[in-house]
Amino acid sequence: MTSTLIGRQAVVIGAGMAGLTAAGALADRFEQVVILERDTLPSEPAYRAGTPQARHVHALLFSGQRALGELFPGFEQDLARTGAVPLRAGLDVRAELPGYDPFPQRDLGWVSYALSRPTIERAVRRRVESRANVTLRQRCRVQDVLATPNGEAVTGVRYESGNGASETIAADLVVDASGRGALTLALLQSIGRPLPEETAIGIDLGYASCVFAIPDDTATDWKGVMTFGQAPQNSRGGLLLPLEGNRWMVTIGGRHGDVPPGDAEGFLTYAGALRTPTIYNAIRHAKRLNGVARYGFPESVWHHFERLDVFPRGLLPIGDAICRFNPVYGQGMSVAAQEACLLQRLLERLEKDSDPIAALAPAFFAEMPTLLETPWSVAMRDFAIPETRGQRPADFDITLKFGIALTRLAAEDPAIHKLTSEVQNLLRPRSVYRDPALVQRVLAKMAEA
Ligand SMILES: Cc1cc2nc3c(=O)[nH]c(=O)nc-3n(C[C@H](O)[C@H](O)[C@H](O)COP(=O)(O)OP(=O)(O)OC[C@H]3O[C@@H](n4cnc5c(N)ncnc54)[C@H](O)[C@@H]3O)c2cc1C
Repeated sequence: MTSTLIGRQAVVIGAGMAGLTAAGALADRFEQVVILERDTLPSEPAYRAGTPQARHVHALLFSGQRALGELFPGFEQDLARTGAVPLRAGLDVRAELPGYDPFPQRDLGWVSYALSRPTIERAVRRRVESRANVTLRQRCRVQDVLATPNGEAVTGVRYESGNGASETIAADLVVDASGRGALTLALLQSIGRPLPEETAIGIDLGYASCVFAIPDDTATDWKGVMTFGQAPQNSRGGLLLPLEGNRWMVTIGGRHGDVPPGDAEGFLTYAGALRTPTIYNAIRHAKRLNGVARYGFPESVWHHFERLDVFPRGLLPIGDAICRFNPVYGQGMSVAAQEACLLQRLLERLEKDSDPIAALAPAFFAEMPTLLETPWSVAMRDFAIPETRGQRPADFDITLKFGIALTRLAAEDPAIHKLTSEVQNLLRPRSVYRDPALVQRVLAKMAEA
């Protein structure tokens, strides 16, 4: 079936996960899709300046894997071909939570892949570049989004190309996947429109990561480890996941000043002071393959574009430009891919609309509260740490107690374990916890406590 085109040219700013997946969604509906990326993109998986977070563990949730498969049929096989390590959900990653060292390991019935962020990104880029009407222009730094003099519609972007020349490109639709959304916010400011309200959760997270060769004599019943500290006293945590090429990536971190140092010895010392010794014991004699990379993440932020009354026609922020989450929960790439699937569905739904491009952003923003509710509620767990800044929900203490009792139930009952993992993987909405029978069981657990 051929799709109806709704525009001549769409321009996507940024070739990160949000930009690439959005381009995949747009390719059926525009004659041309042009992606402008400020970086030089390596042909092999490698780190690059524009995505410094790629030096840290990037877990792809099962919802993200599924969304990528919806956008690029057969994508799971692409992942397998990269050498990504299959992980049986609930079984292959040892989860160490206070009170459960480890949490019961059970096969929950799905397999997800562990691999490095550069390799995931390159796999997606290959799919996007295989589309004949998609062009990726590297070393093109977008400087401004251009609009009509009255600011009602976006007309294209101005960018600096690799040779330093300032150029413009016309677009029926501009998708801002530049990560921070700064270009969208600057446009709104320049045309005198209100900026979206934002909700922030201040966490002052400090990350440090290193890659190790998996030692030959490793004999473990796990392929990965997650270790969490005992909140509120201990905010330190660690994550060890396998990567393609028989490697482990280890990310350790803490908050509000209790952050890991940037040297190899300090990294090991910090790992040795995690609540459990599993990660330290795994890496202390392992060969380190790179230097320590650090990252500071001050806050999760949600820009509420859905609350704006008016928005320029032909502009759409996506991915981190709308909402950035505490990376500990591994949600950003999956949410970006889900947003691209939403974009694809909306383009199909709106193709018969008299002005699909004008209708697109309002329809997209209207879906954001539903799409973001569950991942944002996961990010709100950070209020368990007293130094966390932001609007603590009035019922947070009861939510916390509910969560603790639900975890106890999940440890005992494989069906509840599966349900909570499905919510954590964004396969189901958090509203499933409102099921009356489940609520009764959780309340009974709370009463026992
Ligand atoms: C430390 C850390 C760890 C993380 N771990 C995980 C994880 O485990 N799992 C997970 O799912 N997510 C994780 N994330 C989040 C994830 O990286 C992002 O949410 C996801 O990649 C979507 O980002 P994006 O594409 O919107 O933006 P970005 O990844 O920031 O990409 C933006 C792109 O736009 C380009 N760009 C920016 N400005 C311009 C411009 N003016 N002109 C042209 N190009 C421009 C950049 O070079 C870049 O390529 C982590 C984030 C951090 C910070």
